[in-house]
Parts: sequence; C-alpha cells; structure tokens
Amino acid sequence: MSESTTFDAIVVGSGMTGGWAAKELTEKGLKTLVLEAGRPIVPEQDYVEHVPAWDMKFRGMGDRRFQLKDQPIQRTCYACDEWSSKFFVKDTEHPYTTAPDKPFRWIRGRQVGGRSIMWGRQSYRWSDLDFEANLRDGIGVDWPIRYADIEPWYDYVEDFVGISGEALGLPQLPDSKFLPPMELNCAEKFVREKVAKHFGGERVLTIGRAAILTQNHRGRAACHYCGPCERGCITRSYFSSVNATLPAAEKTGRMTLRPFSVVHSVSFDSKTRRATGVRVIDGKTRATIEFRAKVVFLCASALESVRILFNSSTGEFPGGLANSSGELGHNLMDHVKAGGADATIPGFEDQVIVGRRPNGIYMPRFRNVKSRHPDFLRGYAFQGSGSREGWARGIMQTGFGPEFKKSLSRPGPWRFTFYGFGECLPNHNNFVELDKETVDIWGIPNLKIHCAWSENERALRRDMAISAAEMLAAAGAHDIEPFSTEEPPGFTIHEMGTARMGRDPKTSVLNSFNQAHDIKNLFITDGGAMVSSSCVNPSLTYMALTARACDYAVQQMKKGAL
Ligand SMILES: Cc1cc2nc3c(=O)[nH]c(=O)nc-3n(C[C@H](O)[C@H](O)[C@H](O)COP(=O)(O)OP(=O)(O)OC[C@H]3O[C@@H](n4cnc5c(N)ncnc54)[C@H](O)[C@@H]3O)c2cc1C
Ligand code: SF4
Repeated sequence: MSESTTFDAIVVGSGMTGGWAAKELTEKGLKTLVLEAGRPIVPEQDYVEHVPAWDMKFRGMGDRRFQLKDQPIQRTCYACDEWSSKFFVKDTEHPYTTAPDKPFRWIRGRQVGGRSIMWGRQSYRWSDLDFEANLRDGIGVDWPIRYADIEPWYDYVEDFVGISGEALGLPQLPDSKFLPPMELNCAEKFVREKVAKHFGGERVLTIGRAAILTQNHRGRAACHYCGPCERGCITRSYFSSVNATLPAAEKTGRMTLRPFSVVHSVSFDSKTRRATGVRVIDGKTRATIEFRAKVVFLCASALESVRILFNSSTGEFPGGLANSSGELGHNLMDHVKAGGADATIPGFEDQVIVGRRPNGIYMPRFRNVKSRHPDFLRGYAFQGSGSREGWARGIMQTGFGPEFKKSLSRPGPWRFTFYGFGECLPNHNNFVELDKETVDIWGIPNLKIHCAWSENERALRRDMAISAAEMLAAAGAHDIEPFSTEEPPGFTIHEMGTARMGRDPKTSVLNSFNQAHDIKNLFITDGGAMVSSSCVNPSLTYMALTARACDYAVQQMKKGAL
C-alpha cells in the first residue's frame, strides 16, 4: 500500500512541544502527521536508568575517544554521559558555525521525544512580572499576551503532566496545580529557615517544582527515586512526550508518527498565501517526499524551526518564509547561569540522605520584584541542593590503612550550593542565519549563530555570586566559595526568541496565538515564539502556548477561517 501523503495537520518535531501539538490536534479530531528527523524510541530497549555502571562498557566513565571525536559539544552537558550520550546528537553529523569570537553551545537531541527525554523537568509558571517586562523597560517588543491569557492553559497542561511542588502564593512565581512536594533534606530546611528570618521573608527557599510524579497520576506511576532521569524512565514517572503525550495521541488512532523524516522546508502557494505542506528527506533512503496538510505546526525547537523557514525562501519571502518583518532568526536568548556559591553547613552529622531524589531546591526571583536594583534589569532564581560529601572529597589526607578504608565509607560534611539562572534580554543583534558554506549530512544548509551576553547578563551573574554568598553567611555556613564563571550562551539549553510573537506584523513573526502573521495556516509553538526570557525554566510555558495554539487553530478551521 502506498504511503498517504495528505493529512489535516502536519507537526514537525516530536519533542516537548511536538508531542503536545500531536496530542491536542489528534484529540480534537485532526488526522495528524508527526514528522521526526530522528529514530524511534522503544522505552523497553532504549531507557537505561537502571543499568548499573559495571554493565557499561566503560563502567560509566564514558567512551572518551568517541565523545571527543563525535560529540565535542554535547559531551560538555552534565546530562550527556555513557548511558545517555545516545540521546544527544553527534556534532559531526549536525554541525553549525559561529562567529569566531562568539561561541555558542547548542545542545540537542534528535529522536522521537527530542530533549523531553533528557530534560531536567524543572517546571515553573511565568507571571505578569515577565509578560509586562519588555513594555516596562522599553526593550524589544511587548508580549501580546498577559498571564490571564495563559493561566487556564497552564492549568490544562499541568493537570496532564503532573507537577510536584509547594504552593507559596508569590506574585512573581504563580503556583501550579501541584501534586505533593518532594521533601527538603535537613540542611535545606535549615538554610530555608535561616534565610527567611534574615531577609524578612523576601527570599523563599522551596523544593523544585518538577514534572515528576509523587503519586500515581493518569496511568503513570509515582517516582521511585532511582535518580538518573536523563537516561529514560520505564515507570514513566517523569513527563516526556514518549512517556505521556505521544501515547495519548496514538490512542486517538489519528496520529501517523514518521521517524527518520528530516523536514527540509515548508511549501508555500503564493496564490492562496498558504503553506501547502512540507518537503522531507527520508533519513534512511534519502528520497525526497512532499506531504500536504491544511495546517502546519513547526515544533522542531527554536533554532531548527527557523532553519526550516530560512530554507523555505520564495521570491516573495527571500529572507525566509513568513519573514516580512525581518525578525526571523533574531532576538535569540538563553538563560545566563554559572553564578552562585558553595559552602559547608555545620552539624547534622547524624543524618544521611536516603534514595536519590531527582530534584533540588528552588529560590524564586527576589531582585527587581519590589525595589529596583541599581546595576541591572530583571532578575534570577536559584536552583541547588544540600548534600553530604562522598568518598571523593579530599579524603587522601584523612589517613592510611584501616583508618583510610573506614573514612571511605563515612559521608563527609553537609555542603550546600546555590546556582543561579538569570534572565537574558532580547537583542536584535543576537541572531542566526544560514551558513553559506556548510551543509549537514543531508545536504541541508547549516545555521551560523551570532550570540553574546550583554553587560546586563554579566551583572546578573556577578550578583548571583554575591547574594548566594550572603545567604550562606546568614545561615552560618563556612568555607563559602562564591563563583561567577563565564560560560557561552546556549549552555543553559533554553534557547528561544527567534520567531517572536507580537502585535505588529512589522516587528514580529507570530501573533498572540503563535500563528505566523504572514501565513495564516503556519504555527510555530516552540521556544522561537518567546518575546522575553523570564528567569524561570521555559518548557512549561512552551507546552501551555502549544496547547493554546492548537485550540485556536482547530477553532479557526471549524469556522472556515483557516
Ligand atoms: C539536559 C537538559 C536539561 C534541561 N532541563 C530543563 C528543565 O529543567 N526545565 C525546562 O523547562 N527545560 C529544560 N531543558 C530544555 C528543554 O528540554 C527544551 O526547552 C524543550 O525540550 C524544547 O522543546 P522543543 O519541542 O522546542 O524541542 P525538542 O524537545 O528539542 O524537540 C525538537 C524535535 O524536533 C526534531 N527536529 C528538529 N529538526 C527537525 C527537522 N528538520 N525535521 C524533523 N524533525 C526535526 C528533533 O529531532 C526533536 O525531536 C533541558 C534540556 C536538556 C537537554
Ligand atoms: S528518579 Fe523517578 S522520574 Fe527519575 S527515572 Fe527514576 S523513577 Fe523515573
């Protein structure tokens, strides 16, 4: 039987946002083709979270020769180890270029599920402090939506995803619909109390809000604290598209999921001014196939969706499809991190950690919330944890012979880390374009990325070190080590902003429903749509925007307006 090439909807990408688009569009009755460049994932074979180090070829130390040669960029990500490196791309097959003095670390996964398999699961709502920020500061363009527009969609996706966490009632970090929170350990509870007292309740330490189930939820099992979630989760206790949204879409009987389908470009009919479908290179046969649909959702990630649109240029859109504004590819943002402090927390030596809680602490933004900081705009949040040092601490100095052996099995003192994640300002000069000289293994032109931190992001990072150290001092910690390390953009893996929303088609690519101003049946619902970056992890907002855009698209189709 020949393959069907005509559908109601096409979704490009099956990661965090593609999974949501697949679920929503199929559940709303559309025959939907999901095109995924990478391979299929079979949880029973591919998930390796329970494989012990001694069953790994390199005992968990990693195949250094392979990684140095094939994954020189991916290997720098904390989650890319001997087990999980198979979920990260080979840099050799998926190259990109940068301006010589502007390094950018692009961390990617190309398989069914995308990066929703390896993500850190930290899930936070944005607030009007974020949605109003550009307008307030006169930077970039104003968001065309406010919290009230997205709030019901946060409720909607959270009800399906399952977010564990603690309600705090803070205006700058609205509460989610929570499952019970994971527990703070004794050092974390101690720092929480001391900091709350010292800073008059302005700085609140809580457990991370995570897309991890603390009780059985919608057919998925509660987490059993095994720990290395970036390797998969056979009990489906954390949210990923493989664990949750794609099975829901599959259940409708209306999804066709096509792995090994590298979308080259979107086809456009200049007479009707509509996208007619997409052109695909079959990843196995290298044949070119054209698929057609009434509506196209690009969910290939903030940079890949833009690359597809640049490769779809027409006479009418010479600078990339749907780019009459000239903003496509511009305003690239990522969160600035690597500022904070470590310290030793005295006491609690009779207490140890049991189990591997896949979560840490969170401290919501406190800078530029009530009063204006003189050195920078916006703010940052802290993640981190309290933990006991293990055998790898400077133990060689602690003895010799039997005494040395004994000390190996004894945990060390409690340490505590605050690690900041700061907002990045939108900047037209941070942008991507097609590289004119290089192509990937499919012959598709690569991206050239031009992105650098501004003085505002550097000032935030410096302040993270100062405020983290002062909180640890207030908690009576000793050996306080502040840090503020220069890391290239991209490395927080929250790249966004390259096809921003806005009210004015002259200055933005998408309208308030993620619909291209120029092409009504084209939607982009990945991080490309973001207008500013907030300081909180963005994926929950991508999911809510995706569900909202799908609802809008289907309503418009029913009305005959699409
Ligand atoms: C280690 C790690 C930790 C993270 N931690 C967090 C966290 O704690 N909280 C948070 O909010 N975010 C976190 N993130 C970021 C999060 O994973 C991303 O924001 C999210 O996955 C983006 O969703 P997406 O759908 O845009 O892209 P992805 O999930 O990357 O999915 C894109 C999909 O599109 C496919 N694709 C790309 N190009 C094409 C093409 N041309 N044709 C067909 N298919 C294509 C890819 O193969 C991929 O499957 C983390 C990421 C990583 C890697
Ligand atoms: S720690 Fe929990 S969520 Fe993570 S892999 Fe283990 S069971 Fe799954």
